[in-house]
Amino acid sequence: MTILLSTLNARYTHASLGLRYLLANMGDLQDETRLHEFVIGAKTADVVEKLLAHQPRIVGFGVYIWNVEETTRVVAMLKRVAPEVVIVLGGPEVSYEPQEQRVVQLADYLVTGWGDVTFPQLCRQILRGPKPLMKIHAGVQPPLSDIALPYRFYTDEDIAHRTLYVEASRGCPFKCEFCLSSLDKTAWPFDLDAFLGELESLHARGARLFKFVDRTFNLNIKSSLRIMQFFLDKLEDAPDDPVFAHFEVVPDHLPDALKEAIAQFPPGTLQFEIGIQSFNPEVQALVSRRQNNEKATDNIRWLCAHSNAHLHVDLIAGLPGEDIESFARGFDKLVTLQPHEIQFGILKRLRGTPIIRHTDAYRMAFDPYPPYSILATDRIDFATMQRLVRFARYWDLVANSGRFAHTLPLILGDAPFANFMALSDWLYAHTDATHRIALEKLAALVARWLRERGNDEAVIAASLASDYAGQASMSSSKTAARAGDKAALTSPAALPQRQARHLAA
Ligand code: SF4
Repeated sequence: MTILLSTLNARYTHASLGLRYLLANMGDLQDETRLHEFVIGAKTADVVEKLLAHQPRIVGFGVYIWNVEETTRVVAMLKRVAPEVVIVLGGPEVSYEPQEQRVVQLADYLVTGWGDVTFPQLCRQILRGPKPLMKIHAGVQPPLSDIALPYRFYTDEDIAHRTLYVEASRGCPFKCEFCLSSLDKTAWPFDLDAFLGELESLHARGARLFKFVDRTFNLNIKSSLRIMQFFLDKLEDAPDDPVFAHFEVVPDHLPDALKEAIAQFPPGTLQFEIGIQSFNPEVQALVSRRQNNEKATDNIRWLCAHSNAHLHVDLIAGLPGEDIESFARGFDKLVTLQPHEIQFGILKRLRGTPIIRHTDAYRMAFDPYPPYSILATDRIDFATMQRLVRFARYWDLVANSGRFAHTLPLILGDAPFANFMALSDWLYAHTDATHRIALEKLAALVARWLRERGNDEAVIAASLASDYAGQASMSSSKTAARAGDKAALTSPAALPQRQARHLAA
């Protein structure tokens, strides 16, 4: 075999869409191209050994913020033991500021931007000559109609065990400066009929869990409606074998026609990731994020009240111009809207993003190592930023996990940010850890904190008991599902666990 496409995914369940696009577009080289994915945390020598077992002449690596350090080690070792193997890199992490990166120095070639056309061309040159003169090749961006769709390269095992990533469009017309998609300046749609045909084939092969990577699903409402109708038809045809779809949406654009479609999805079949990032208009202006806060708020409220969609709403801490008080106000506002999860992220300086222009004026200090998280700004010092990092982690464990659904209101009271920050500081002081805290220990700690804050013992016990009962019913559902007792299921098999917990609460 001649060409090997590889990457280290963040989890086994993440199947790389990018590698499958490359494979689909290899043309006359497709028969000599294979795909071998790994998961971060694998031993470098094992990865290298498995790659070399294919006896490749070229290895193409997809490099991302989450795997760049491990990929660097893999490439370094590959070059030591098999220097004749040609290494070609691609992916967002190496598409900008490449000269500074060790992994690029170690590799033979780099394709920046889109690789669908340029990677196969480069491989042909490497294999058949003339030898490429340049090390860095800017990826050609063809019309999407020239790109072969990749979905047939999802294997039966992918379909059975992994999330299937799909995209109806690429790019984003918005310009939020912390985001790589801001460089696209526009969005390009794939041919919708061809795309829906691919979804149909995947569904016929057993796929039930679809995650759309479109940066803004609700840009073109006509297309959004057709895609939603595809899923609604599937749900109507086979309500006992439901599909599950995840979309990223902008919050201030939900016309009535879209609302009508959304309202038809039954529980456990639809999930939205909604970027708010900041409710502070000055911060939004500074990072060039266009957002109508009033409309966004109304739409989230509508989604909570009138739809069964599971809502993940994103906030980012550490943006220029945002201090703790303004972040807390945004957080509290979001808590009152009651989305199922608040994804509390810490700002990262993604290579190539224009956010860097604020570095001096707002004294933004970023970690020099991936994922380049913000460490301090002129308004949030390092110690406070660390407290926010821990808050985000504990929030995920306690709130987003759905494991403390009945106890959470007791914790948050009427000042959600301040109270949860107090719990977060207390948990860290008593455990010195943010990871590997067993659920029972966490529950005992939460109960102790609530007691110390003067809450009634009986109320604490009752709320934790309700949460425990929720876990127990979840696990008996799982047992039933394993035993094939479909009637005992409270949620479809494709439903992610957290959403199932929120539904059961
Ligand atoms: S944050 Fe979302 S809306 Fe803004 S540029 Fe990125 S993808 Fe587009």
